[in-house]
Amino acid sequence: MSSVKVAVRVRPFNNREISRECKCIIKMSGNTTTITNPKADPKEPLKSFNFDYSYWSHNEDDLEFSSQLLVYKDIGEEMLQHSFDGYNVCIFAYGQTGAGKSYTMMGKQEEGQEGIIPQICKDLFNRIRNNNNTDIKYSVEVSYMEIYCERVRDLLNPKNKGNLRVREHPLLGPYVEDLSKLAVTSYQDIHDLIDEGNKARTVAATNMNETSSRSHAVFTIFFTQQRYDQTTTLCTEKVSKISLVDLAGSERADSTGAKGTRLKEGANINKSLTTLGKVISALAEIASKTKKSKKADFIPYRDSVLTWLLRENLGGNSKTAMIAAISPADINYDETLSTLRYADRAK
Ligand code: ADP
Repeated sequence: MSSVKVAVRVRPFNNREISRECKCIIKMSGNTTTITNPKADPKEPLKSFNFDYSYWSHNEDDLEFSSQLLVYKDIGEEMLQHSFDGYNVCIFAYGQTGAGKSYTMMGKQEEGQEGIIPQICKDLFNRIRNNNNTDIKYSVEVSYMEIYCERVRDLLNPKNKGNLRVREHPLLGPYVEDLSKLAVTSYQDIHDLIDEGNKARTVAATNMNETSSRSHAVFTIFFTQQRYDQTTTLCTEKVSKISLVDLAGSERADSTGAKGTRLKEGANINKSLTTLGKVISALAEIASKTKKSKKADFIPYRDSVLTWLLRENLGGNSKTAMIAAISPADINYDETLSTLRYADRAK
């Protein structure tokens, strides 16, 4: 059985694609996604991929329309349940810039357009509020950081301008030194913090003449359940980490003729995305092996800051979901195919 749930989501045509009269090269049928090479001989066999979920939002009148809610129901809700069960969870969105990663993870403020992050936070507090068991106490803390060129920035404390150090705790594993971790007691608290964090992200990006598409944004919920046992009078604590990651754009640096800083950025992005891919396929391979052979496998977590920090959310006691965001248009064929291949390796 695969350790990672993989979904693919196609967005509608954007204005640029409409004005260039782009053709749609993606077809979805059940869980099969097919891509046509616009330059190939029409007789050439199409490339097909199977994923756990496929979301079509290319044309609302065509096929079924996948709303933000459906994506949440399939993936977010299941992952939230896993965290109540004591697992660490990780959901990340992968794809080229403009393919729909932020829309999937954050979405828009309007009703029905909120992405996975706000929906998970709302649902978490609804469940906490509806809990009738007085022996269980919950607490929630959040952090929000950005990883740019292998350096970590705190989005909840923009005054903390410097790069934060990544360290390793002997028991708890890798962590970011001095990263703000704020206690929250309602969805509104989180909503306000996310708003601040997103603003800090945009300001930092503008100051450094970069765009947020070149950094990874990692929003983490530390969810603690304290259970009091009446018979033994003992209190046990279960902490789950929910990491929600909007990855940097996957477009390759070489395809844009990048030089200097841009080339370095590209190399760093590629490094973390490639390492993430390697880590996930290594974990998928281990999941399909027998217990005995598991020990020998090497998982290259340390090869990038992103995978090192997500270590506790990817292997072992954790559940992972990946959403590959793609454009439907022929002009994006190469990037879309590379995204589908990346997602395919994660299974
Ligand atoms: P990325 O984060 O991958 O760079 P965005 O999420 O910003 O891309 O998406 C680019 C644009 O496409 C945004 O205006 C967004 O609202 C729109 N968009 C993306 N995915 C969808 C979707 N599934 N349905 C409707 N609009 C979408």
